[in-house]
Amino acid sequence: MASDVIPRVSAISAAVTRVLGCNPGPFTLQGTNTYLVGRGRRRVLIDTGQGVPEYETVLAEHVASNDVDVSDVLLTHWHKDHVLGVDFVRRLFPRAALWKFPDDHDAEHAWASDIRPIADMATFDVDGGVLTAWHTPGHTADHCMFHFADGAGGALFTGDTILGAGSSVFEDLHSYMTTLGLVRDRLAGSTWQVGELYPAHGPVVRDPRAKVAEYIKHRLDREDQIVAVTRDLGTSGPVDAAAIVAVLYKEVNPAVWPRAERGVVQHLNRLAATGRMEAVGDRWQVRDP
Ligand SMILES: [Zn+2]
Repeated sequence: MASDVIPRVSAISAAVTRVLGCNPGPFTLQGTNTYLVGRGRRRVLIDTGQGVPEYETVLAEHVASNDVDVSDVLLTHWHKDHVLGVDFVRRLFPRAALWKFPDDHDAEHAWASDIRPIADMATFDVDGGVLTAWHTPGHTADHCMFHFADGAGGALFTGDTILGAGSSVFEDLHSYMTTLGLVRDRLAGSTWQVGELYPAHGPVVRDPRAKVAEYIKHRLDREDQIVAVTRDLGTSGPVDAAAIVAVLYKEVNPAVWPRAERGVVQHLNRLAATGRMEAVGDRWQVRDP
């Protein structure tokens, strides 16, 4: 899926260094991107990777050779490829504050009681700019993006909501579509400068507005495809979601099919809510006008 090879450490702007989580896989592309933000000695770290020893070595060597310290760790959301590195990062930066939008999953971690809650629109000052949290549910309920006003073109750390390659998955399609609409509207206005997107997986996105429009179109096209496939498969009766996934994802690694099915079911529910489809038990059919 990803074409660009992402180096383990790269300076992607004057105030942003990307450190790869070293956890490649079918869901993570080349791994989770973590970001050190700020120009001076004191930096903010966005996400912590999956707890892979290679990441720990890479990050430790980078901060030692560049005399960098981390004052605050911001977590985009609860998924393990973003938070399992927290224990290591806290050993490396014992004074750093840990920030996250609160969520039921937080209780699974020993550090849960140390989380400082991120509020929507909370700001974090760094040397060289200001980060602002955008609560952006959909991929997960707790997901936050971070806008970076850097005095230059501006940037948006998009977490797992918008990726550098391929499309994302979501816990809740309705919230996800609302979030994409919110991001599209903020990028169209004059309040938030966003010259680039820095996703948690995949390369830097150089054309943010086109990428957001593409994501919205992808979901609406998906809806049309699901209706068409259900119609094709349904000549002898209603069809189940797995059969629809097998057609829609026939060129994709079957390892992602179970995850894809959850997304397709959300689309089917949305299609049922809008009257284009109907459920027959756990099967589906197109409602003909
Ligand atoms: Zn995620």
